[in-house]
Amino acid sequence: MEILIIVLVVAGLVLVGGGAYLYRGRSGQGVLEPPAETRTGGDTAVLDRPDAGDTLVDEPVVVEEPPAVKPTLRERLGKARGAFTGYLGSILARGVDEQTWEELEEALIRADVGVPTALSVIEAVRDKATAEKITESAEVVEMLKDELKVRLSGLDRELHFADEAPSVWLFVGVNGVGKTTTIGKLGKRQVDAGHSVVMAAGDTFRAAAAEQLTMWAERAGADIIRGNEGSDPSAVIFDAVESAAAKGADLVLADTAGRLHNKSNLMDELRKVRRVSEKGAGTVSEVLLVIDATTGQNGLTQAQVFAEAVEVTGVVLTKLDGSAKGGIVMAIQGELGIPVKLVGLGEGVEDLIDFDSDAFVDALFEV
Ligand code: GDP
Repeated sequence: MEILIIVLVVAGLVLVGGGAYLYRGRSGQGVLEPPAETRTGGDTAVLDRPDAGDTLVDEPVVVEEPPAVKPTLRERLGKARGAFTGYLGSILARGVDEQTWEELEEALIRADVGVPTALSVIEAVRDKATAEKITESAEVVEMLKDELKVRLSGLDRELHFADEAPSVWLFVGVNGVGKTTTIGKLGKRQVDAGHSVVMAAGDTFRAAAAEQLTMWAERAGADIIRGNEGSDPSAVIFDAVESAAAKGADLVLADTAGRLHNKSNLMDELRKVRRVSEKGAGTVSEVLLVIDATTGQNGLTQAQVFAEAVEVTGVVLTKLDGSAKGGIVMAIQGELGIPVKLVGLGEGVEDLIDFDSDAFVDALFEV
């Protein structure tokens, strides 16, 4: 009898296990890759898989992890900090001499602050240190931090709504910088804050973009309007605005394409998108230029080109988690006068933060 019970239990386990395996195998077929967030963030993590874009992949294997302690800005800026702190160690170990100024200048340039900004920042700090007869390097570093904070202050970093709904926030920037991901993250935040959001899949040139945005919209609890691949981006955004107005939604987050046949085509397209967005009930209250921090000074050139075509109201600096080029924040503000409003620190839905200039400078310098 005991043997019979054991045999029945084992057979039952085999059946249940096999069934689960078959179910996983079947349900894994034809499933679009989940948005990147599930791969990296939250309380669960997914084992490494090749980044399959929008291709068909097996269902991910989910591994439970203990709830993560939220990393500080300092920890999340790992690489950007490294660029400064590597220099600071040796500077702090000595008194202030000629080499100190050269090294500080080099640290700023390497972190992509940009040569003109780096030179003028160091000159200002040096003048002040000389006037105040400062010889302690720790004090000089504090003065440098203050100078950077002052230069980063004074710009409006709020995200604005129009007086009359719906407000339209346009996202522009070259391909792959993180526009679609940013809309997804920000959409979730705005829905959580009580806004009614419509996403517009205006990147009709990239096959996967509308799919990607649809998944983000589902997760955020936002509506989405999309057109056929290759259709007119302006028409998609116009429809999204009309749909938002009809439903009483107050915010349209509009994706745009980052690649066309050539630069002047792209800029003409963006001007048209901007115009058409306001043809109906909507008002464009933000044009957010998305820049990938890992591209360094290239990002500054992009900002110049986009700012000439459309009135850019703010920058979203993405991928700062993987960049040693945090100084680009200074260059963008110092040379173009455009405020960095948001910072992307990863692929997950929580990895988008408001840019706080004081916290940013403090985090960069914390040894
Ligand atoms: P788009 O072409 O501008 O719409 O770019 P996507 O939104 O498709 O993003 C391109 C890639 O960058 C995707 O793999 C995103 O997950 C990734 N990405 C976006 N923002 C961040 C970020 O802040 N940090 C990191 N590490 N990756 C990001």
